[in-house]
Amino acid sequence: MDGDRGLEVKAKPSLNYNSTLGQSVQNQGFQSKARTSVMAYYGKKFVPLLVVLGLGYHNYSYCYRFCWTEVHDRLNHHSVCYGLLFGFNFIQAILLIIWLEIFIVGPGRLKLQIPPYDLSMYFDQTRNDVSSQGDFNRDKLIYNSQIYIEAPDFFICNFQGLPFWCSKCNSLKLMRSHHYNGCNACIKRFDHYCIWIGAVIGSDNYKFFISILIWFLIYFIFTVASVSAYASDIKDYETVNLKYTLNPNLIFLYIVDNFWILIVSALLGCHLFSIKRNVSTVEELQISRMKRAARKRHRKNKYSEVEESKEVEDHLYVNAKHPLHPKVRFVVRLTDKDYPYNKGFNRNWREVMGDNFLNWFNPIKLPKMKNAVQNFQDLIDNENNLISDNFKKEVLKRIDEGNCVQFGSY
Ligand SMILES: [Zn+2]
Repeated sequence: MDGDRGLEVKAKPSLNYNSTLGQSVQNQGFQSKARTSVMAYYGKKFVPLLVVLGLGYHNYSYCYRFCWTEVHDRLNHHSVCYGLLFGFNFIQAILLIIWLEIFIVGPGRLKLQIPPYDLSMYFDQTRNDVSSQGDFNRDKLIYNSQIYIEAPDFFICNFQGLPFWCSKCNSLKLMRSHHYNGCNACIKRFDHYCIWIGAVIGSDNYKFFISILIWFLIYFIFTVASVSAYASDIKDYETVNLKYTLNPNLIFLYIVDNFWILIVSALLGCHLFSIKRNVSTVEELQISRMKRAARKRHRKNKYSEVEESKEVEDHLYVNAKHPLHPKVRFVVRLTDKDYPYNKGFNRNWREVMGDNFLNWFNPIKLPKMKNAVQNFQDLIDNENNLISDNFKKEVLKRIDEGNCVQFGSY
């Protein structure tokens, strides 16, 4: 179900920032770009169609060739045949409903233009004295008619300690959100574009993506198990009547379904491992990039100054407020072993699938729409809750140990 071939995730560190109030103005961090090549375009259109055709053939082989011809007509197991047909079509109906829901619910487009964070008071006043540069109203957080919002206590930032900015949406990028050109919007907790089902997967429909993987696994296991259960009967029949040969459709079905059981289990395993650490597919790519850079650094003789500065810019950092130093902020570098959003498997799982376990695999239950953000304060509260308490403690510990830079001091 996975397949990020239509996507390119790339780090574009920026050296520019709006010097007055310390917001990075370029599209920062890893940014998703839909490849506009013809192949990618047609791939996106036709792969889901191929999947539907494949399901159609699967139906023909299983329902007609196996259930009807073998079980019903040759073996005369009528009630078993009806039971298998019901089970198979029930699972398939659930699959199609979930597939539809992935589109109906959508990935979670951010429709708001979020103003930049007000970080002026933490910025090095000797370099950027905001109060002398324009008409700044601290109480209302308005500077030269531009509205600013209060920064959360902790947020993921670039090497300069600045939050990421989407120049296409002209909006602050919330943590974990990424711009996707295909939707022309920033997507909350963007995961990936799934080429098989032809949909963008983000915070809102990730639950359904996990559900569809589980139900696909059940679908293939059901098919393989029922065909296997009758394999010996079919074989017995063959020895009695020499004219009979095993139907090639059934051999093909058996091989293909076993192959898909492997693929879907591997994919589900990868996603469960990601949920265990609360990392999305794009964040996974970012971590592997950081790991590659770290490995290169260990082989120091091959590590140039250019690469070092690129690594500094490619890395992720966290901008934090320390309770003992309210007038300054600190920038702490993340390592490839840091998982800022990891709250333990149980909470991570509930963050994705919802709190009520009765609804985890219930394809009919739609999630509550979280898009209706009342005001920017809700957004900031939400941002504050994204980072786990353990990680916040770890960041404060690193600040106490001096493994940080004061924000605005460079
Ligand atoms: Zn955007």
